Amino acid sequence: MESTLPELGVLRSLWPGFEDPDTTHSVLVGGVAIGGALPVIIAGPCAVESFEQTLAVARAVRGAGIRIMRGGAFKPRTYPRSFQGLGEEGLEILAEVRRETGLAIVTEVLDPRLVERVAAVADMLQIGSRSMQNTPLLVEVGRSGKPVLLKRGWSATLGEWLGAADYVAREGNTRIVLCERGIRVPASEGYARAVLDLNVIHAIRTLTPLPVLVDPSHAAGRWDRVEPLARAALAASAHGLLIEAVAADTDRTLLRSDAEQGIPPDVLDRIAGCARLGFPRNSK
Ligand code: PEP
Ligand code: MN
Repeated sequence: MESTLPELGVLRSLWPGFEDPDTTHSVLVGGVAIGGALPVIIAGPCAVESFEQTLAVARAVRGAGIRIMRGGAFKPRTYPRSFQGLGEEGLEILAEVRRETGLAIVTEVLDPRLVERVAAVADMLQIGSRSMQNTPLLVEVGRSGKPVLLKRGWSATLGEWLGAADYVAREGNTRIVLCERGIRVPASEGYARAVLDLNVIHAIRTLTPLPVLVDPSHAAGRWDRVEPLARAALAASAHGLLIEAVAADTDRTLLRSDAEQGIPPDVLDRIAGCARLGFPRNSK
């Protein structure tokens, strides 16, 4: 890895003023600095399934003191017969929820041809784990100039992940936030969906000036396993969290995407309280 990393423009050594591992290039999303003085939480439903469901989750998110919501209109699904998201209708719902609540919106874009349309609604574009090496998509979100939430491919090395970030940065867009979401190892069979790589937080903080979030939801796969991972990520100095959430009294049997892993509002409140305590002292 050492031999390829020097080629990457996202390395700290190439950013004048960011040589020190304590300094992070913060990315502003809806007036919130990701990579700033406090960890930032982004939360919301896996998928936008209806206006009512999305607004109810948005209210829980806002109630927890969180200012950025994530919800998918276009969902990357493993199986073609699974719910693929509401698409354009989902974008319209997100725009309406944004107007109604004042929350900033993060949503995934899957197709390079739709970057402009999604960017018209979103405050930040998500590149999902499956798309991390879709280079035409990376170039297009780079050109959009919008903040980009770049999730780690579930089998990607750190070098491959930073290479993907470099595709965005080379288009002149350095508003990049990395997001660790768990990597696949056979040993996780049964007790987790993926293994959360918390070691990578320190590596990213040391090597790059980019902020790094942790998504405990897709690693846990079940809502009652999310909180300990979220706390661990904050203790390990992640710049924040991306968490899937549901509204109070949600009937999970009606949800069409990641039904088991959204945390209810009381758990979201506790995690948000933990984030407000700030970064651990003497740690990167
Ligand atoms: C998601 O964020 O809902 C998602 C599909 O995540 P990932 O791309 O990490 O699998
Ligand atoms: Mn999901």
